[in-house]
Amino acid sequence: MGFRVEAHPGGARGEKPLKVDLHNHTHFSDGRFSAEEMVQEAIRRGLDRFGISDHSYTDFDESYCMKREQYAQYTQTLRLLREKYKDRIELLLGVEQDYYSREIPQGLDYVIGSVHYLKIDGEYLVLDWDKERLRGIADRFFEGDFYLLCRRYYETVADLPRMTRCDIVGHFDLIAKFNGDGSLFDEEDSRYREAWQEAMLRLIPKVSYFEINYGARNKGLRQEPYLKGEMRDFLLRHGGRTICSSDSHRLSTIGCF
Ligand SMILES: [Zn+2]
Ligand SMILES: [Zn+2]
Repeated sequence: MGFRVEAHPGGARGEKPLKVDLHNHTHFSDGRFSAEEMVQEAIRRGLDRFGISDHSYTDFDESYCMKREQYAQYTQTLRLLREKYKDRIELLLGVEQDYYSREIPQGLDYVIGSVHYLKIDGEYLVLDWDKERLRGIADRFFEGDFYLLCRRYYETVADLPRMTRCDIVGHFDLIAKFNGDGSLFDEEDSRYREAWQEAMLRLIPKVSYFEINYGARNKGLRQEPYLKGEMRDFLLRHGGRTICSSDSHRLSTIGCF
């Protein structure tokens, strides 16, 4: 809750806002490039502040995340890079902490809390793989009712601060990743709206920011970044704050918003 990124240095009027991108992945998890390559690219692109936030360890799915044994090396590497490039960019140390990760790496500047799975009947079900798998979850566990699945998802998202101690809520409406064409459920439906509004109101007093996350938009999966316009308006009306992030796994999308 205490985490704040100052957007306007000195607060002087007309001063250019700082260029900040805090959601980026490297070789430590499922990113395509090393941390140093990512930092160098962020410098090339003129960013003022850059954060690396690799995926926390999930013991039930090791395919994309850091290993627990890597945590010390991760923070050490990032600290060295912060020192090496300190005259050219401010490097922040972060993590994208999954709701179901058991341990939070120590000594970080910030935590992005994300729900990528739901645990139902002892099974971890991945939500952002593809449309068919998501439909399968709704069919198997919610009798095909996507609104019940969405409710379960947003109740889990609302619980992120307790489980992850997050400063930033990651891709709040990830559950709508494959619903760009509206074929899974109606995002205007009151059952959907009430579920996310309740979660958002619970989260606002507990976190510093909600991400405007361009990850899926950069992949052409969505027209809009996460936190679609209606959610953004609701958030700002209720005193929440947003922060833009690219969710980059490669060099070409860093600071892309
Ligand atoms: Zn994520
Ligand atoms: Zn990510």
